[in-house]
Amino acid sequence: MSIILEKVSHIYSEGTPMAISAIEDVSLSIKDGECLGIIGRTGSGKSTLVQHFNGLLLASKGRVLVDGEDIKDKHTNRKRIRQKVGLVFQYPEYQLFEETVEADIAFAPKNMGFSKEAIVEKVKRAMELTGLDYESFRHRSPFQLSGGQMRRVAIAGILAMEPKVLVLDEPTAGLDPRGRADILAHINKMREDLGITVVFVSHSMDEIAQIVEKVLVMDQGRIVLSGPVRDIFEQAQKLEDFGLGVPQITSLMHRLREKGLKVSNRILTVEEAKDEILALKRGQKDA
Ligand code: ADP
Ligand code: MG
Repeated sequence: MSIILEKVSHIYSEGTPMAISAIEDVSLSIKDGECLGIIGRTGSGKSTLVQHFNGLLLASKGRVLVDGEDIKDKHTNRKRIRQKVGLVFQYPEYQLFEETVEADIAFAPKNMGFSKEAIVEKVKRAMELTGLDYESFRHRSPFQLSGGQMRRVAIAGILAMEPKVLVLDEPTAGLDPRGRADILAHINKMREDLGITVVFVSHSMDEIAQIVEKVLVMDQGRIVLSGPVRDIFEQAQKLEDFGLGVPQITSLMHRLREKGLKVSNRILTVEEAKDEILALKRGQKDA
């Protein structure tokens, strides 16, 4: 399942005095099984961009191809594309509306016309993948859950469609550290269990470092940097120009380098930093 964008621009309220150019000339390709991170300050166009991946928004200019099919082509079944490319909005809990967790998660598969038994199976599986115990949560009201649990119900509702690509727009925004860690752990587990392609939009460089392999950096509606996560976070100065930072541990290592310590500037995790510093201490690196 590939997603390709060719020179895509999006203008909100096109042709009116309120026209806003939200993304401009964006080209990218997302490959099967990949985990792609998208970063950029508020208003840089991230949410607009990801809504083109499943045809929720249509390009004002350029083309979007999902599995080789042009999303705008009149023969393309956009409903099917929206099932294959599951999009979890920013603050998805605002879209929960059923009386029970089970009914909420069952909503999409029900609309897709599956049998009762098949729906229950899909709901159970989606809940398992998001760490919600079926028996203890199925009858509860989504509105009485914690922020992190509500968020996971919303994600489960998308997973129940069994998408090939899961797009998460700032899935941890506004959650406490525990809620954030839970979501990240479940995303990693989903990738392992389902081999699902993930697009992860985030404000947090630390989260990006933990989850993704490749990063796109957006600024003023354009992709200004892209590449493997290590290559991106090596460029602290450039990121700063776009109002972004690097993961805390990467920043610490960059500062140690400035002080003359010969540590790598490509460190992404505390574990890697520890190994790097121990190696230096042991004199394995010529300090
Ligand atoms: P991000 O997700 O990076 O914060 P958005 O895609 O939400 O960025 O916004 C990009 C630009 O488009 C901003 O200038 C924003 O104000 C504008 N915008 C976003 N959604 C709409 C909308 N529905 N109507 C008009 N303008 C919008
Ligand atoms: Mg956004």
